[in-house]
Amino acid sequence: MSKKKNLCTVCRRVSQKLFLKGEKCVSPKCSMIKKPYAPGMKSKKRRGGISDYKKELMEKQKMKEFYGISEKQFKSYVKAVLKRRGKVEDAALELVKKLEKRLDNIIFRLGFASSRAQSRQLISHGYFLINKRPVNISSRQIKKNDLISLKERKKEKPIFKEIVSTLKKKECPSWLKLDKEMFCGEIIAEPSFESAGIPAEISSVFEFYSK
Ligand code: SF4
Repeated sequence: MSKKKNLCTVCRRVSQKLFLKGEKCVSPKCSMIKKPYAPGMKSKKRRGGISDYKKELMEKQKMKEFYGISEKQFKSYVKAVLKRRGKVEDAALELVKKLEKRLDNIIFRLGFASSRAQSRQLISHGYFLINKRPVNISSRQIKKNDLISLKERKKEKPIFKEIVSTLKKKECPSWLKLDKEMFCGEIIAEPSFESAGIPAEISSVFEFYSK
């Protein structure tokens, strides 16, 4: 059985809060507050200067972990965008749009899940419909006007209370439209760079995969 990833360790490894665990990330329990040093170190020792390669690797890791996707998937998104570099106006924005339009990200952005990890869990357990059809693929690209909704019978599940509470607390970005009463949402505009809040330098990510 594969070992479950410790998401807080991921933040500590890249020395940056990546907000991977929902509520805990904005509480004093955040591991970046309690142990603001890399795993395996005993204190907050300063890291020495890092090479260009290490910096690019770190930026790539930050962005990949922020969206919580595998190396294989992330690399394929970046490579696809790099191939179109020169043909698209803004390659960085193109990459962000691809990642933002994944179903798992949209469920999280709408506020149906407190983290992308929880979003993937709910999707794999069949909580959502797209255009009234069941969906269980987290990586599915959502198009403008696709209607994402919560399955009616899932409202009887214990986790539904958690979904309602998350929905109350979260505000979704302006490129999405959410109906909190009907538990459904859709894309109404293109995701923006600003609303995505990427914690990494995308130019370094491109450099990493260009070699
Ligand atoms: Fe990162 Fe959230 Fe864990 Fe803090 S609580 S270290 S932001 S995953």
